[in-house]
Amino acid sequence: MIKSIISDMDGVIYRGKQMIPGADTFVQKLLSANVPFLFLTNNASQTPLDLKLKVESLGIHGLTEDNFITSSMATAMFLRSQKEGAKVYVIGGGGLINELYNVGFSMSESNPDYVVVAKSTTFNFEQLKKAVHFIDHGAKFIGTNPDMVDPVEGGYEPAAGTILAAISAATGKKPYIVGKPNALMMMIACRKLGFHPEECLMVGDRMDTDIVGGLEAGMKTALVLSGVTKLDMLNEFPYRPDYVFNDVGEIEFAQL
Ligand SMILES: [Mg+2]
Repeated sequence: MIKSIISDMDGVIYRGKQMIPGADTFVQKLLSANVPFLFLTNNASQTPLDLKLKVESLGIHGLTEDNFITSSMATAMFLRSQKEGAKVYVIGGGGLINELYNVGFSMSESNPDYVVVAKSTTFNFEQLKKAVHFIDHGAKFIGTNPDMVDPVEGGYEPAAGTILAAISAATGKKPYIVGKPNALMMMIACRKLGFHPEECLMVGDRMDTDIVGGLEAGMKTALVLSGVTKLDMLNEFPYRPDYVFNDVGEIEFAQL
């Protein structure tokens, strides 16, 4: 029995600066039926407020900051469950640093417990050197999300995965990455909503991240064809979503 919805955003709600048709209807239906839901993104730089404002600028209204979860938030919640009051060295933007402060962590360059890495537009050699030094001296190596590149106007730019790869190359260590496709991200989202994974539907546009992550978390899954995965690609995967829709506007909660 599906009681709540967790939905990806890029390729589901918007593509670049364009709302995907049906996304506004989807949100209105969820709000009027009082269905608990969360929008989830691997993007670690944006805060829930940034996301709410972005979605509003596309014409989708009625959402609050509580309707969003980012890989920064999931990473902070995961690390707090591992060690309270930890000291962290961070490569990443204000969104990540805020979330780590929110769970009671302090930023430190003296024997940090964790090196936490997200996409950073100001990443430099000094930071690389420090991260490598701390990991060599026992700090745990954590990434918010594995994305190598992010789509930007006219192409793509390096993202968290590229910075993680540089640190991995120097240390010989692999990071533990919290964001999609790690099912941990979906489980943290379900917990935030207060439901068991089997009571949550994961909606996304990618078989290799959203659907596999939802499946491994024990959720029901719905693929929308408005983003990366097209219908003729479905057979390439050894697993199937429970539902396939052209776009989120087609989802009727009462019929799931
Ligand atoms: Mg997507």
